[in-house]
Amino acid sequence: MNTPSAHRPRILLIYTGGTIGMIENPETEALQPFNFDHLIDNVPKLKMLNYVIDNVSFNPPIDSSDMSPEHWEEIAHVVENSYHLYDGFVVLHGTDTMAYTASALSFMLENLRKPVIITGSQLPIGEVRTDGEENLITAVQIAAAIDRHGDPMVQEVAILFENYLWRGNRATKRSADNFNAFKSHNYPELAKIGLDINYHEDALYRHHVHEPFKVNYGLDKSIIVIDLFPGLREDAFRHALHTPATKGVVLRSFGAGNAPTAPWFFDALKEAIDGGLVVFNVTQCVGGSVLPGRYAASDALAAAGVVAGADITTEAAIAKMMFLFGQNIPAHEVRRRLTHPICGEMTLPSPGE
Ligand code: ASP
Repeated sequence: MNTPSAHRPRILLIYTGGTIGMIENPETEALQPFNFDHLIDNVPKLKMLNYVIDNVSFNPPIDSSDMSPEHWEEIAHVVENSYHLYDGFVVLHGTDTMAYTASALSFMLENLRKPVIITGSQLPIGEVRTDGEENLITAVQIAAAIDRHGDPMVQEVAILFENYLWRGNRATKRSADNFNAFKSHNYPELAKIGLDINYHEDALYRHHVHEPFKVNYGLDKSIIVIDLFPGLREDAFRHALHTPATKGVVLRSFGAGNAPTAPWFFDALKEAIDGGLVVFNVTQCVGGSVLPGRYAASDALAAAGVVAGADITTEAAIAKMMFLFGQNIPAHEVRRRLTHPICGEMTLPSPGE
């Protein structure tokens, strides 16, 4: 791995909370977020890197189950304010909603050309067998890495966890106890971490046009998620589609984007979509893609005007809808942009698939 030799890399740590910095409550024995000094005191090895490492912390730090679009804006604001002062950013975050935050930041941080590496841990940093120390140190090294042209190696939002670096808007939490807690089922790893950090340069995001960095605020929370399951009742489905103040639905369908063929299902969807609702179809499968027309059971969705989400994750679909509705563009434009990759979050099926 290359790091700049002419100057000490400057890294900003943004501590939001999560298991990595938690300690046990002596009365309840439950883990709860603790302050940044405690965290950093447990990683004296960071000093061996000889980087300039500054930090900012959520006050108070939170369990990521409490993460919200307002918190995403807070993180984006920190990156925006210090973008030109640092070579890279490391966000310390709970694992539970890390993939949502990574997805949201990928849409918010437009034309990002510096690394924003999100990490955390399964065991608190104060525990003997913690994975937090290694994750934090590796994330900081990745945030400082440069390529052979002297540019930042990673120019996107990514999740570093144990042995892998994943594109943030492609990753999903796959295990509540495995140290390799994340995986991207539809996109290769950006780097494999072993004795060395081996980057897969072909997989790394690169911009083709030079536009200035800008942050998109104003995420719109007017969306819901509906999971299909055998036995879903018509009244419950209609009720969900007509949830007040809802502009968009992420519809988690079966397999390659299939749904019940019952006429009531089509009628309910068509009515809602004709009324202005945007419905985005993603698969419930952990891997693979929505392929409209592959099965007759997907025809009703296409005919009703549902937008196919290709191989996007649910986390990225939610973030993308919040981001697009927050741009104050008409619904037809939201629909159009949903079908196009914005920052590497989806791969469109090749014709014939
Ligand atoms: N509940 C914790 C959180 O997401 C879990 C973790 O960090 O691993 O904040």
